Amino acid sequence: MDVRTYRAQTMHDALLLVRRELGPDAAVLHTREVQRSRLFGLLPGPRHIEVTASAGVNVPSRLAPNRFSRSADLEDAPAPPPPPPLAPTADRTETPVLPTEMQAQISDLQKMVEELCRSSHHGVQPDLPEGLFHLFTELLDAELSEDLARELVERVRDALPEAHINDPALMKSCLAGIVESELRVSGPIATVAGRPRVAALVGPTGVGKTTTIAKLAANFRLRERRRVGLITVDTYRIAAVEQLRTYADIIDLPMQVVSSPTGMREALGRFCDLDVVLIDTAGRSPKDEVKIRELKTFLAEAGADEIHLVLSAAAGERALIETAQRFATIGTTALLLTKLDEATGLGGVLPVVRSSGLPLSYLTNGQNVPDDIDAADPRRLARLVLGMSPEPTN
Ligand code: GDP
Repeated sequence: MDVRTYRAQTMHDALLLVRRELGPDAAVLHTREVQRSRLFGLLPGPRHIEVTASAGVNVPSRLAPNRFSRSADLEDAPAPPPPPPLAPTADRTETPVLPTEMQAQISDLQKMVEELCRSSHHGVQPDLPEGLFHLFTELLDAELSEDLARELVERVRDALPEAHINDPALMKSCLAGIVESELRVSGPIATVAGRPRVAALVGPTGVGKTTTIAKLAANFRLRERRRVGLITVDTYRIAAVEQLRTYADIIDLPMQVVSSPTGMREALGRFCDLDVVLIDTAGRSPKDEVKIRELKTFLAEAGADEIHLVLSAAAGERALIETAQRFATIGTTALLLTKLDEATGLGGVLPVVRSSGLPLSYLTNGQNVPDDIDAADPRRLARLVLGMSPEPTN
């Protein structure tokens, strides 16, 4: 079994190296991200992707989709020869001398693994043609999970006639269309005649709720000439109250601080002739059930028309899904993604949209008030999720 380790800046490049050196039947055994340090370990160095692959045995890996051969090739292939003794790998400089008994055990184990692979290979999904394989590695580089990347390229394969499977531009636009169709949007906060539209922002501390409220308020007031009021339910994080008050003063807006559900009702009563009321809430740890229940009581009292769950796009897939689940009990109506400018990939966006079933409302991409916010656009977001450059605007 010839096991080698390759390093490159991206998964795509690393897998191309594997394919070039070990051929189309190479099996990926392991992948990991490594970061070298510079200046005697004082500074972080560049990130690399490290792929360990073998040209020999059909070892099923966590990266089963990365197997390069088509299933037909596998079926036609003659039975593999008996395993050779452990060969030195590219990384190893010397072969350790093992006791005979241990060598026999390793040889037995190796045979068992090969047998397992042979018997399970019919269960492995058909492998990817070259064009789709490239697409797959690009999705991994955009930080989509392997499962999601695999699912999406399979859907492209199903959607396109075979002749188009090697046309990168066509495959990408097909892929973008698939993702776009899953990204529902709620549209921006819509004012209604005769009463204020009440929208609350909830979410963990530090995701950007107060800053986003300031962006929304400034745009409503200064660009759309709406009458806006701010309420904050920040009962214990004094700094956040002051932060919102500063924005309220600059934009020249009325603001109320409430510390009880009754106070909420009174504050809304005072704002009854406005067009929009935006409610800021103190960060609630998604793990703190009591605080989340308390928040629910406040928002029920407010009769909020919209409850936007604010999530940082820089968070990982699991954190996003868990946070959305915890806040679901409040009755969240939309997802608002912040910090797109800080995210290295948006691989968690589609999974959290799927699991929460919520539409997207706004996207923010910087700290500047009021400019760094846009109503969510599925077409643009789909391209961002897939790591594609934004479409040129005419
Ligand atoms: P809150 O605790 O959820 O109210 O969060 P804040 O509004 O206090 O924001 C926390 C930090 O995130 C502040 O430093 C903001 O300037 C920053 N922030 C908010 N939105 C964005 C964004 O879209 N991009 C970036 N890079 N930073 C943001």
